[in-house]
Amino acid sequence: MTENVVIAGAGIGGLTAALALHARGIDATVIERTDLRPLGVGINLLPHAVRELYGLGLGDKLARIAVAPAAIDYYDTDGALLFREPRGIDGGYGYPQYSVHRGRLQMLLLSALRDRFGANTVHANCELFGFDQSEFYVRAHTSVGDIDSSALVGADGIHSTVRRRLHRGPDPLKWSGLRMFRGAVDGDPFLDGRTMSIVKGANGVDLVVYPIGGGQINWVVMLPEAPPGPLPGDAKWNHPGDRSQVLRHLDRWNLGWLDAADMVRRTEPVLEYPMVDRDVLAWWGLGRVTLLGDAAHPMYPVGANGGSQAIIDAAVLAEELSRDPALGLRRYEDRRRPETAKVIEANREMHRTGAPQRPADLARVTAKYRTDTNTDRSHA
Ligand SMILES: Cc1cc2nc3c(=O)[nH]c(=O)nc-3n(C[C@H](O)[C@H](O)[C@H](O)COP(=O)(O)OP(=O)(O)OC[C@H]3O[C@@H](n4cnc5c(N)ncnc54)[C@H](O)[C@@H]3O)c2cc1C
Repeated sequence: MTENVVIAGAGIGGLTAALALHARGIDATVIERTDLRPLGVGINLLPHAVRELYGLGLGDKLARIAVAPAAIDYYDTDGALLFREPRGIDGGYGYPQYSVHRGRLQMLLLSALRDRFGANTVHANCELFGFDQSEFYVRAHTSVGDIDSSALVGADGIHSTVRRRLHRGPDPLKWSGLRMFRGAVDGDPFLDGRTMSIVKGANGVDLVVYPIGGGQINWVVMLPEAPPGPLPGDAKWNHPGDRSQVLRHLDRWNLGWLDAADMVRRTEPVLEYPMVDRDVLAWWGLGRVTLLGDAAHPMYPVGANGGSQAIIDAAVLAEELSRDPALGLRRYEDRRRPETAKVIEANREMHRTGAPQRPADLARVTAKYRTDTNTDRSHA
């Protein structure tokens, strides 16, 4: 089989890249090792990423499946407001922020791609094992045979095969020492029905909770477990979590506007995931091969930036490849590698800063984060 661009991975990054490339007249085929079910729980898209999805004509559909938070509110465990940070349009941005179920967003992108450009733009149950390249083409070795193309994009997530083949040296997952327990559950709206809330508990225990559309509430509880260091075990998004570890803390809280312990008790399943990233790479791709999204820059999810940065990668990749097929991959990397390196570092710093409770400290830390990551109002 011969294709123009092959993208390994039909996550948010890979599917958006295919849509963006096709929109610029470049054929792209996505190969995905799973059978493409809507997995995951909630995810946030920042205005910079939402702008790109609007540019692809997906704004109305996105608005129908997502919730646009007006603010992030910080509370103490008695439900008292510590600090409010307006977000999206209410924060003066040109585009909304969206909270959405990851799987629903993935299915929206998938059906847009197939409806617009044909069912064959995505091959499910097709795993990439490796690749070879020459001056003239790159050959992807997959579970259904070899596929030749002019470019291969590794959008295959935090455990990327493409990254491992390109970067042979040690590249371990770096654990923050935090474990995140997560879930999505049906629930009545709380507060104004579109606020993302962060409850600052004792000893660094944080709850992040927000509506994600479809009558569902998404929650994440961060539990500090160890000093930063090597990760015991692995990092899998679908790993079942023990809710009693979370309830030990939440049972003592009295927020008033939400029964957090009841929400966790009713959630099925509860998942757990360690907060991990990898060090910044000195380079991403070689020749006809590059990386995108979590494969290129896995990051702590503290700034709601992982999915957003993957979407921005996709837009820049399409722009640079359409400008210059020969130099496009390197120009894309030259633009995106330093930008995303800043986000990885800012996320680590946000985590190191700990859990400020005073409004002035929260205001300072969140403003610095937006400036460091180019996600303030001046950029969208
Ligand atoms: C199952 C799952 C659930 C998630 N749940 C959440 C969540 O609840 N909240 C959140 O904030 N983030 C979640 N994430 C991560 C989040 O989606 C990403 O951080 C972000 O959207 C960046 O997306 P990405 O496309 O770069 O990578 P990913 O979303 O990780 O997508 C990578 C894709 O590549 C596929 N793939 C991997 N290896 C190969 C291979 N060798 N050949 C072919 N295909 C391959 C994977 O199956 C996956 O579909 C989840 C990721 C996954 C895979």
